[in-house]
Order: sequence, then structure tokens, then C-alpha cells
Amino acid sequence: MKPEGIKIIVFADLDGSLLNDKYEYNQIEPIIHQLLSLNVSIVFASSKTRNEIEFYRNKWQISDPFIVENGSAILIPENYFGIHYESTRRMLGYNIIELGTAYCIIREKLDVVRNRTGANIVGFGDLTAEEIAKDSGLPLYLAQLAKKREYSEPFKILDGIEKDVLVAIIEEGLCYTRGGRYLHALGNCDKGQATSILEKLYLQQFKRIFSIGVGDSANDLTMLKIVDKPFFVNKTADKKAVWKEIESIARAQKKTLNH
Ligand SMILES: [Mg+2]
Repeated sequence: MKPEGIKIIVFADLDGSLLNDKYEYNQIEPIIHQLLSLNVSIVFASSKTRNEIEFYRNKWQISDPFIVENGSAILIPENYFGIHYESTRRMLGYNIIELGTAYCIIREKLDVVRNRTGANIVGFGDLTAEEIAKDSGLPLYLAQLAKKREYSEPFKILDGIEKDVLVAIIEEGLCYTRGGRYLHALGNCDKGQATSILEKLYLQQFKRIFSIGVGDSANDLTMLKIVDKPFFVNKTADKKAVWKEIESIARAQKKTLNH
């Protein structure tokens, strides 16, 4: 069953890609609305938690799947795809494909890394929401959502040798990735793997797809490799111009693919 001909999907990181360094989105918001009115799917793929990403999905009434905690899980609204696919579990109206490792295990292993290296590692689990808000610049209500972690730990090394910490993380069987503000410890997964799984599901549902990716950090590179049209947003880049280009590519693709 292939009910529709084409689907354009934007895989979008949030911090530094859609949100600026003050977590503002005013300039990009109208473009998001334009993309949605073109029936483009917007799949957020972020280091953020389910709760944080839901905040933005609700704000813009986006009902597409999303990728949480750097590729640790894919959340697909039930009935979104009219096809059968494997998922790890069903919860809160989502079919969830889990690729990462449970947060409690990540925390336990980070403790081992701390003891082995003697480094002063501070993760979100060690901080209050107020402290996270202060350190990240997030408003308190979003910092509270950022603390509700399921699969990964953002952290900073306050004292110690970064290389030793990263090697120890790998030796403990975890992975790490670098976002705009924090390092993240997580299971053996990344945004690219999650993006690839979702693209395959879209391809079962639609005859043709065209994927666009937008990211600003090292943790986005695996995702940007997978998509048809990647955008890497430099720190100094004009985000609005990037998103305008995404909109015009989506419009052009829609015309081309429809013929
Ligand atoms: Mg980012």
C-alpha cells in the first residue's frame, strides 16, 4: 500500500539549528508554519528529552515522529504510518523504537568513569533544575523538562583530562557525542541511525521521499550524511536564511516530484 506519491521530510536539530543561543525561534517560526502548510514532515532530532521536544511539537502542532536524546529512541505517533513495523514498546500514544541504553545504566557507568579517571564530571542528574537553567540559559520550566532523561546524560568536565574521560566512557561500553553546549554520554546509537530507520519507514509508506537535514554540531553529522540535502549551520550563519532555503527547496522538490 503506497497511498501517496511523495513525502518531503525535514530532519531538524533544535539547539543552534532552529533555536538560537537564547533558545529563541521567532525568526524561524513562520517558516515552520510554511513547511507544515506544504505538508512537509518535520522530524525533530535533538539531544533533548521527549518532554522537551513535545513542548516544541505541541507549540507548532507538529504530529510527525521525533528522535530523542541524540538518536536513543524514535517516537512515532500510533497510526502515523499505515504499515507494520517493529517497535520496542508502546507508550503514551507512541510506538517507540529504542536504540539507546536506559538512563540509570548511563549514570552508573559515568560513576565508574568518575572513579577511574578522578575527573570532576557533572551531569544533569547531579544538578537541580535551577542549576541547569543557570548553566544552560534554559528557562526554568524547560530545564525541568531537560532533567526528565530516559537514555542519555549531558555533562561537563569541570576538572580532569577530557581525553581520559572519553576513553573511559568507550571502555565502559558507552558512546559519547558533542552537542553545542555539552558532551553527552549515551548508548551505542546516533542521530544518523535513527534517521535511517525513519527514512526506511517513510519509504514503505510513500513511493518517493526527499529528505533535508539541518544541524549545527558534531552530533548532527551522522544525520546529515544520511539525508538527501544536508545543511550545516555555522555559529555565525544566518539561521533564517538557511531555513528560507529549506523552504524554497521543499517547494521546488514538491513541484518536481509531483510531475
Ligand atoms: Mg544543536
